[in-house]
Amino acid sequence: MMKKLKAGILGATGTVGQKFVTLLREHPWFEVSALGASEISAGQTYGQSVASKWKQSAPVPPKIAAMRVRECRPEIMDCDFVFSGLDAAVAGDIEKNFAAAGMPVISNTKNYRMEPDIPLLVPEVNPGHAALIPLQKKRGWKGFIATNPNCVAVPLVMALKPVLDEFGLSKVMVFSMQAISGAGYPGVPSLDILDNIIPHIGGEEPKVETEPLKILGSLERGKVRCADFAISAQCNRVAVSDGHSLNVSFSTRKKTSVAKIRKALENFTALPQKLHLPSAPQRPLVYLDGDFRPQPRLDRGAGGGMTVSAGRLRECPVLGFKMALLGHNTIRGAAGAAILNAELLFKLGYIKQR
Ligand code: NAP
Repeated sequence: MMKKLKAGILGATGTVGQKFVTLLREHPWFEVSALGASEISAGQTYGQSVASKWKQSAPVPPKIAAMRVRECRPEIMDCDFVFSGLDAAVAGDIEKNFAAAGMPVISNTKNYRMEPDIPLLVPEVNPGHAALIPLQKKRGWKGFIATNPNCVAVPLVMALKPVLDEFGLSKVMVFSMQAISGAGYPGVPSLDILDNIIPHIGGEEPKVETEPLKILGSLERGKVRCADFAISAQCNRVAVSDGHSLNVSFSTRKKTSVAKIRKALENFTALPQKLHLPSAPQRPLVYLDGDFRPQPRLDRGAGGGMTVSAGRLRECPVLGFKMALLGHNTIRGAAGAAILNAELLFKLGYIKQR
């Protein structure tokens, strides 16, 4: 049996960090070997540090609860690679320190996503962009950073990829209804969100308008050429615990039909499924019949939270076509996405035992 790789978690006490702990509990290739967080948590056991803020439905795994949380410094964390669910305000320097010290960093944060030599990866959509990794040697790093996108961008690119490949795209408009877990903990005050919708999420719309174009772009001579269509995003926070819903309207370049687009969505499968990566859902995208799906409570758990659900595909009198999408924001949009990235990068030989 293969010796498991030692995985560290930076930001282990946060919303995304807790999801890493939960999803890695019985991982066949990776075991959690070190936990990092702020100096407030450092020194405590993990169980103590999350005692008042553990928000997962399963309890903290006992082995992890007993581990000591450390400050996020590469020299005191015994790992082959690290996942990062750090607050973006501190992620820039900390992730750079780990990469410089020789560690692969599989990051959730926005800091490096749009840098030209850093892959912004969704394994079903652009696994080939992993080829950017060796370019990071020019930064003097012995390790590297690979990122996963914003939690709205993930379901969006998963559904747009088969459409783009078959019919081309010229315009996309997306309206999001985003869960409160997307704001971390304690996140949005209850008196702001209960019985309410907040029509703005700081910094979100520019990410949704740019990240998909990098992911759907082509890698040419060591550079990503972004996809050449425009995205307009309007992002809203709604009183749902987990699961981001998206209403998407789009124009295709080739003439097509609802039936043909639906077939393209239903047939979508990709490299992670071929490679049987442990976190790859059997079906990356499911199309649900009926006017009332997808819904967060009913559909966010599809494929263990890794399957994106689509439905309500129909003609749009303005842009041509429209549909509804749903993705689990802390799994497919964060920790699960990073774990799938690490599995891909291990399989491709970028992550190794150190
Ligand atoms: P969070 O709940 O606020 O957690 C932040 C984590 O960062 C905590 O572990 C915290 O440790 C740690 N941290 C804060 N200051 C630190 C410092 N100075 N040094 C070391 N560690 C420090 O946030 P989150 O929602 O998990 O989000 C984490 C990152 O993932 C963010 O960049 C976010 O944008 C991104 N993301 C989140 C989602 C989502 O659905 N929530 C989805 C995609 C991406 P302490 O507990 O010790 O303070």
